[in-house]
Amino acid sequence: MLGFKSVHDIVRVDDLLAGELPLLMGAGPVPLADSVARANTLMINHLGSTMDTVLEQVMQMGAYLFQSSDATILGVAGPASAGLEMAVSNLVTPATRVLSVCNGHFGMRIAEMAARAGGDVVRLTTPPFHAAAADDVARELRRGRYGVLTICHGETSHTVHNTALPEICRIARAQGCLVLVDAVCTLGAMPFQMADWHIDAAVVGGQKALGAIPGVALVAFSPRACARIEARREASAHWCLDARLAADFWLRRAYHYTAPVPGILALHEALRLYCEETPDERFLRHRRCSHALQAGLRALGLSFAVEPGVRLQTVLGVRLPDGVDARALRESMSRESGVDISGAFGLDIVRIGQMAEQCRAPNLLRTLRALAAALAEQHYEADLAAALAVTKRLLNDAASGRVRLLPNPPSGYTRMRDASVPAEEPEVQPE
Ligand SMILES: *Cc1c(COP(=O)(O)O)cnc(C)c1O
Repeated sequence: MLGFKSVHDIVRVDDLLAGELPLLMGAGPVPLADSVARANTLMINHLGSTMDTVLEQVMQMGAYLFQSSDATILGVAGPASAGLEMAVSNLVTPATRVLSVCNGHFGMRIAEMAARAGGDVVRLTTPPFHAAAADDVARELRRGRYGVLTICHGETSHTVHNTALPEICRIARAQGCLVLVDAVCTLGAMPFQMADWHIDAAVVGGQKALGAIPGVALVAFSPRACARIEARREASAHWCLDARLAADFWLRRAYHYTAPVPGILALHEALRLYCEETPDERFLRHRRCSHALQAGLRALGLSFAVEPGVRLQTVLGVRLPDGVDARALRESMSRESGVDISGAFGLDIVRIGQMAEQCRAPNLLRTLRALAAALAEQHYEADLAAALAVTKRLLNDAASGRVRLLPNPPSGYTRMRDASVPAEEPEVQPE
């Protein structure tokens, strides 16, 4: 039975999207840069010399993005979750003991994937809105002979940044345990060093910090992870996600399945924009925008779910004033102002993204205006003028822009600047 009487009842996409597109300021997907959007409209042969060049460059830029010169990078036609499933299902076999650090929804999702792959999974769960402590992980790692540890660099649901990740990776490495990191909401927006931190599998999706589209993801495996995969005797149950088969296409340029061509082109352009901006400048932009927005939100009278030290800078978990209904607020922002922000899997917060193109001054100001208007509808009068003023001041304050990204800046961060352009060191400023 057809669900409609005539095709004329179907509204064209062009008409559905007539007028301005909503400004996506939630936890993903994010607005696309024009050149990324254009790349995503193009179709070429999935095999052949042009695609060879595209893939070759995606690999080169991917190595730079992950900061690893010896990782094997594979792509997957699918959401970041498929990238995670690819990493998990290639490294976890029915004999594998897996320690899954869970700070929320996405940490739990990886644990579930590991359990479905037959792994013997122990979940190390943090209290709500808390980061993982290296000591707790060390204690649990000593207790069992774990083969794989899984963890989110940023846990998007609880808006927590696992700042102890490098330390946790060091501990796991000392125990001979592989580390699988979900970097979906952090890679591209803040420092991440696959090789220096001894990460064995890292996953990023297109749709968040990278500023590309949903439905394509990259998975990077360290040489140790590759050796584990090569040594596997039983075939993975997932034909599409089998790393050894995927290497046919991504490394040997032969057919595995028909690759998501426009998605790969969009990813290529998003990576190119990342390299062109340079990591230093890009991280600075993210940090500056997130700080300016946080100040604006505080000026509106709002607070945050997570303490500053481990607050995820790319997705802010915002507590609303008593009596303000989150769903009604989000609907009003979308309807009246064309600004979309996210709920939080039933948690009592709303989430506002600061990833890729979300981190632009006009987007921040528009979000604050939309938020203030929606709060006013629920009889909460926020000081919008003060919020806009402090946000603008911090956005334009060169000093605030020069705040260092990490208290301890990554020493080995490979630069891709022209030799002729001297890399200037940002001054260190206290927060
Ligand atoms: C969004 C997100 C995912 C899932 O991404 P999909 O593209 O929806 O599969 C996984 N992990 C983290 C940390 C995320 O933020």
